[in-house]
Amino acid sequence: LVMQPISPSQVVDMAVQLLRHRLKSYDVNVTIQRTQPLPEVSADPEQLKEVLVNLIINACEAMENGGRIDIQEAVDADDPAGPMALLHVRDDGPGIPERLREKVFQPFFTTKEEGTGLGLSIVARIVHEHGGRIQIDPAKGMGTTFIIALPIKE
Ligand code: ADP
Ligand code: MG
Repeated sequence: LVMQPISPSQVVDMAVQLLRHRLKSYDVNVTIQRTQPLPEVSADPEQLKEVLVNLIINACEAMENGGRIDIQEAVDADDPAGPMALLHVRDDGPGIPERLREKVFQPFFTTKEEGTGLGLSIVARIVHEHGGRIQIDPAKGMGTTFIIALPIKE
């Protein structure tokens, strides 16, 4: 890991930029809800980009006829572990059944004919290596929302 101070907002932009052609071919629009760039975290930009790329590609694959990915940025100042930069990555797909929400992070778990099942296990490993957390929003409703929390550099 090559850690440096970086705003997660910058990584979001890098990932969307990198995937722009693929997003077009999937007919998926990405909207970013950002009032101002997130505060800096200590991160390896390439690894963090890998996280976003994996989540975005999974979302594209889940939405068969295209759709929308919404990336919402926020700060949680009240986390017991200290202030956190939050990324909510939401899609319009079929969602993940409750009974699978733990399993999807396990290596080799896939519901795709040609899936490797490695993406989310790598995502979780990278987030944890950054001192962060990842979860699936338990709220009922359409689609899937992954929530990533990364400690803000003091
Ligand atoms: P793969 O993409 O190779 O299947 P992943 O580890 O990336 O492996 O994902 C594991 C499984 O989690 C997928 O096969 C799918 O069932 C589920 N999944 C991941 N992201 C989403 C999503 N955005 N919407 C619905 N299901 C998802
Ligand atoms: Mg995947």
